[in-house]
Amino acid sequence: MNKNWKPETMISHFAEDRQKYEGAVVPPIFQNTLFTFENWEAIDAAFDDRINTAIYSRGKNPGVDIVEKKLAQFAGGEKARLFASGMAAITAAVMHCISAGDHIIAIKNIYGPANNLISVYLKKKMGVETTFVSGNDVEEFRNAIKPNTKLIYLESPSSAIFSIQDIKSICILAKSRDIKTIIDNTWASPVFQKPLEMGVDLEIHSCSKYIGGHSDVVAGLIVGSAKEIDSIIVNEFELLGGKIAPIEAWLLMRSLRTLPLRMKAHQENAIKVAEFLEAHAKVAVVNYPGLQSFPQHQLAKKQMSGYSGLMSFKLKASDLSQIKTFFNSLQIFKIGVSWGGHESLIYAPAISYLKELSPEQFDRLGISLGDMRISVGLENADDLIGDLSLALNTIK
Ligand SMILES: *Cc1c(COP(=O)(O)O)cnc(C)c1O
Repeated sequence: MNKNWKPETMISHFAEDRQKYEGAVVPPIFQNTLFTFENWEAIDAAFDDRINTAIYSRGKNPGVDIVEKKLAQFAGGEKARLFASGMAAITAAVMHCISAGDHIIAIKNIYGPANNLISVYLKKKMGVETTFVSGNDVEEFRNAIKPNTKLIYLESPSSAIFSIQDIKSICILAKSRDIKTIIDNTWASPVFQKPLEMGVDLEIHSCSKYIGGHSDVVAGLIVGSAKEIDSIIVNEFELLGGKIAPIEAWLLMRSLRTLPLRMKAHQENAIKVAEFLEAHAKVAVVNYPGLQSFPQHQLAKKQMSGYSGLMSFKLKASDLSQIKTFFNSLQIFKIGVSWGGHESLIYAPAISYLKELSPEQFDRLGISLGDMRISVGLENADDLIGDLSLALNTIK
C-alpha cells in the first residue's frame, strides 16, 4: 500500500489482495469452520504461528482478517480484532486489563451495560471495585487512584450527555502509574477521533453504530498494539469465544467503503439540526459537542476532528401527555434504541429508566421526562428540521 494514501483511499483498497480471489472486486466471505492442510508438516508449521494462521474460524478467518487490517490501519493501531458485539469487545478488553480484586476508575456516564459489567457483575464475581468520576478534570482521576488500580475506562464523548475527557492528559497520568486505559470511541468513530495517537492502550467500538452504519450488523472491535491484541486473541477472544460471523465482517467491509463520506454527512446534518433545536422556544438545552455553546466545545475541538450525529435535548414541557404527543408526532425520526445508522431515530431515556428506578432516584440522576435522544441520519436536513418543527409545535 502507498504510504501517502489518504484515509478514503486506504479504507477502500488496504489489505485486499484481489489476485488471491481471481480479481473479484469484492473479497469473498470465507464461510467455513476449518482450513485444511496438505500434510503433517504444513499443519504442524501452522501451529507455530497459530495467531496469524487460518486453522479454525474461532481464531483467524481470512475474510474477517481483511476488515480487521483496514480498521487497525484506519485507527492508527497495529492490530485489531472484531467481536460478535460491542459488549463482547468491552468484556474481553476489561477482562484483559484486570484480575480479581483490582480497582477500576470509570466515567459516570459510560454505556449502561458496560457500567453493569464492571460495577455489578465483576464486583460480584471477582471482587472488582470501581470508582466513578465525572471525567471533567484530570485531578479526579489522580485522586481516585489506589494501589490496586489497574484500569481507567473512558468514553469520550460519553453516553447521554456527551461529556468530554482530556484523553491525552489522562493517558499521561495512567502511564506514569502503570495503569491501562480503555476508551469507548463509538460516538466519534475512527474518522473523527484517534485515541491511540493520544496514548490510549485499547480503543473499543460498537460496530453496530457508525462503523456498520446501515442498521444491519451487530459487532464490536478492539484496536491496539500487536502485543496487547495478540494477548487478547489467545485469552479473552478464543476462550470467551465472542467471534464475529464471517458475513457480518463482510458487511462491515461494505460499510467501511463509505464510512468517511457518511460521517461527513452525519456531521453536516447534525450541526444544522442542533442549531435549529438550540434556537427553538420549546427546547431548554441541547447536548451536542459540535455546538459553540457546548460547555466543553474547546476541548472537543482540540481532540476531535469532527462531530457525529447523536445528541440529546430537553423539552420545555413537563406534562407527560404533551411529551408523548411530541414523540409520537414525528414522521421521519423513527422510534427505537441504538443509533449510528442511515436512518434518523428518537428515544426518550425515561422509558427504560422508569422501569428500574423510583421517581426520586430518577430525579437524582438528573434525567427528566422531557429528555430526548436523537440520532441524526443521512436524510435531507431540511426534512429532518421540518419533522422536528411540526412535532415541537404540538407543545403548548
Ligand atoms: C451500543 C453501544 C455499545 C454496545 O455495543 P453492542 O454492539 O450493542 O454490543 C457500547 N458502547 C456504546 C457507546 C454504545 O452506544
